[in-house]
Amino acid sequence: MIDSDVRPLLLLLAMLVAGLTAGVLTHALQKARSTDTLLDWGWVFGGAVAVGTGLWSAQSLALLGGRLTGNLIFGFKATALCWLLCAAAAGLCLAAARLLPTPRLRTLLLPWLLGVLIGAALLATVRLLLGSALVVGWNSMWGVGAVATLLACATLTQWWFDSTAGQLADGDGSSSAPAVAVLGVGLACAHAFAMQAVQLQVPALPMTLDGLDALGLTLAAAVGALAVAMALLSVWVDARNRERTRTLATSLNEANTQLRRQAFCDPLTTLPNRLLFEERLHQTLQRVGRSPGAMAVLFIDLDGFKPINDSFGHAAGDVVLREVGGRLLELAGAHGTAARVGGDEFLLLVPGPGGQEGAASSAQHVLQALGRPYRLPNRGEVKLSCSIGIAMFPEHGSTAKLIANADAAMYAAKRTGGSTYAFFEARMDLDVREQVELQNDLRLAIERNQLHLYYQPKIHGASGQVTGVEALIRWDHPVRGLISPEVFIPVAERFGLIGTVGNWVIEESCRQIRQWLDLGLRMRVAVNLSMHQLRQDDLVPRIRRALEVHRVDPSLLTFEITESVAMEDTQATMRSFGHLARIGASLSIDDFGTGYSSLAYLRKLPARQLKIDRGFVADIEHSSDALAVVDAVIKLAHALGLKVVAEGVETEQQRDILLGLRCDELQGYLFAKPMPAKMLTLWAMNDDDGHDIEFRHSLFQNHFSSSIQ
Ligand code: C2E
Ligand code: MG
Ligand code: MG
Repeated sequence: MIDSDVRPLLLLLAMLVAGLTAGVLTHALQKARSTDTLLDWGWVFGGAVAVGTGLWSAQSLALLGGRLTGNLIFGFKATALCWLLCAAAAGLCLAAARLLPTPRLRTLLLPWLLGVLIGAALLATVRLLLGSALVVGWNSMWGVGAVATLLACATLTQWWFDSTAGQLADGDGSSSAPAVAVLGVGLACAHAFAMQAVQLQVPALPMTLDGLDALGLTLAAAVGALAVAMALLSVWVDARNRERTRTLATSLNEANTQLRRQAFCDPLTTLPNRLLFEERLHQTLQRVGRSPGAMAVLFIDLDGFKPINDSFGHAAGDVVLREVGGRLLELAGAHGTAARVGGDEFLLLVPGPGGQEGAASSAQHVLQALGRPYRLPNRGEVKLSCSIGIAMFPEHGSTAKLIANADAAMYAAKRTGGSTYAFFEARMDLDVREQVELQNDLRLAIERNQLHLYYQPKIHGASGQVTGVEALIRWDHPVRGLISPEVFIPVAERFGLIGTVGNWVIEESCRQIRQWLDLGLRMRVAVNLSMHQLRQDDLVPRIRRALEVHRVDPSLLTFEITESVAMEDTQATMRSFGHLARIGASLSIDDFGTGYSSLAYLRKLPARQLKIDRGFVADIEHSSDALAVVDAVIKLAHALGLKVVAEGVETEQQRDILLGLRCDELQGYLFAKPMPAKMLTLWAMNDDDGHDIEFRHSLFQNHFSSSIQ
């Protein structure tokens, strides 16, 4: 007999157990469907035991607290069967959650299974516990109510999980709380309704002698409740652990993404770096195949970027680089790739460019896009150009060599004065290994006396007198023969040898001037300087020392600097030109017409001479444009007080035109090819003898043919 004081407590405990069971059930349902390892069938079986115990316990407690009056003995078998039924119902629901293949099927069937199976299990529990002697009939409305309530609450729970599926983490306790609450209410109601679903014979009599009395059942149910509480606790601990693991995994993922970004992206422009570019190159190759002109790699180097950095500061330089990155990204489109691979060096991958013509037009677009003004914060606008080298795949080498070849082509474009593009050609193919070999040899070349200076005369236009010579370096390589400076000077520049080579040229020129002076020849010598030399801190002291050592008058030395190089870094040029002018040497702007000097800038340079690029001279006979340019350059130079030298004069017609345009000096094969000092001495001595140019030309033409061109 149950004391009436205890009844409300038992009912309360029943409700509590229902809530706990709902918690375990929700969690087990989630687990059963979200994991797919064999081990996680454990969630189905474990869940079945825990939930079954909970259902049985809550229903028993509810009966004890709510409906029974007399002294009852509950049969062992019936009690055990009730537990088994509850566990089976829960197990079937969990198995269904795990096995139903699609979310749609789960949404449709699971609430029904929960409602019908668990509802039926509860009704059966009530019926079995009370026994057939006590139960005289059914109140079917309550029975249907129990099933319907469970069905409704399970549907709501299912809806909650479906609608939060994307946001709900596995085992996210806080977010599943509403679902647990709804299911808890559903279970509590189902227990209560199931209890009311039987009509009892009053008063109740003991039905069997072999079983539990009310206290025993209460104790058993309480132990069951405790078991469910413990199950819920372990569920909670599991959820917390999962949550922690998930947080760890998320931060690990974030760290991984960050690392990948750092490893593959340029932080300033956020463009891919060389590594990622190479990967994309391979991916693109898989896509486009090896048909001719399958893809083009454009190596882009900004012209005149350094001066912007120098004069406006690095922040301004960064703005420009970011903008360049953005413009290239736009040009790359969905299928191409733009990357930053160095300070002001970028790569563009154009898949299926449409042959060389298409690649050339891509390069034109790049030139146009990067040529648009750049707005600097509080600094107005600046303009830039760029040099582009193009390597086509598969025509210009394997993917491994494509970037290096595009780089070589870019270098060629740069050397023609920049703001243009050049396709890779086999002659540029001094691959990296060869370059390394060459620079190793070059290191030894000075010690082994393999470097020589050749001299090419400059002729005064009007009188035909020699006004001086240009010193042009030659490398007599023991295996490769004579190597052109156009091949090894870039190697020297790239591998940091230009300082040594340049110093040797200065030293050797001064020594030669002294030798000529000793022979009674006052010969002016022009020495070519590269930008790397201009940036050397010890350039001026070195020149001064060489002049002193060889007792040479500085006015006998002229320094030639290529126009595009002088434009590349105007500040360094101005600085060095200033120092050189101060020690008394003359300055000359070489290859004029290939860069884009502004008049204002030209006027500021203390140069005495302008050398018109031989490209214009070569065209002067046939192209009215070239003629107009040369005419304009000569007039401009004269207006600025500069002497004009025309390089590469090969024909008499060119000579006559140039003289007609009042060009001051001429230099070229028509008069003499570059020649060793000894030969030039003879040549110049003849000049002193008063022989005319044609005579000397015919005299030495044959000798000079061995000289490199
Ligand atoms: P550059 O200073 O413009 O030298 C003139 C180049 O034109 C020389 O080529 C010369 O041989 C060539 N040339 C002269 N007359 C004619 C002609 O009538 N027709 C043709 N087609 N070419 C002619 P080179 O000696 O091969 O030198 C090439 C470049 O290498 C030079 O161009 C200069 O920029 C650079 N270079 C030469 N020596 C040195 C040096 O000692 N130091 C540095 N930094 N650069 C040097
Ligand atoms: Mg020169
Ligand atoms: Mg030149």
